[in-house]
Amino acid sequence: MILIRCSECGGTYHLTPTAEFQCLTCDHCITPRDISLDGQEAWAVDPAGRLGYVTDPAASLTAMDDAVEDYLTAGDRQDRARALSAFQDAFTDYMKARSAGLTPPRRYTREDVHTAVDAAADMINEELNFGEAESDILNLAVNSSLTLLENPDTTFEEVVEKCYGISTKEIRSWWDWGQ
Ligand SMILES: [Zn+2]
Repeated sequence: MILIRCSECGGTYHLTPTAEFQCLTCDHCITPRDISLDGQEAWAVDPAGRLGYVTDPAASLTAMDDAVEDYLTAGDRQDRARALSAFQDAFTDYMKARSAGLTPPRRYTREDVHTAVDAAADMINEELNFGEAESDILNLAVNSSLTLLENPDTTFEEVVEKCYGISTKEIRSWWDWGQ
């Protein structure tokens, strides 16, 4: 962890009971909102209560992924060595973040999203005792979401064709939608 230094005197900030950080030397205080880091970094507190920053664990995971890809597609020994070294650097950063108590945000798979969206639709359908038209709208939203998750450029026409095998004209006729 790299310590964040007091903007007034260069001292170190320590966590206070009010969730602020106070400089031990000059008493200057900052809050988490005052901490400005670049997107690849995240603030953390070491066991001694000192404020610092580490590489964001999510960024390290991405860097490890990239290094594995580089290793697998490396043209020669030199490229492989470079990828391995990048992996080790990212791994070291990741361990530093974990040691500082940071965990990366959970990554959701397509399956996770699918399961949650389906369960939400079932729940709403049941709880609100939806009729056929409302259920159709809900299913259309579920199908569109899952299709857009896979390909954000999919058009309405393509969603309808892919999920229902019909034209948009036909789906509009179901409940006089968009007339
Ligand atoms: Zn200070």
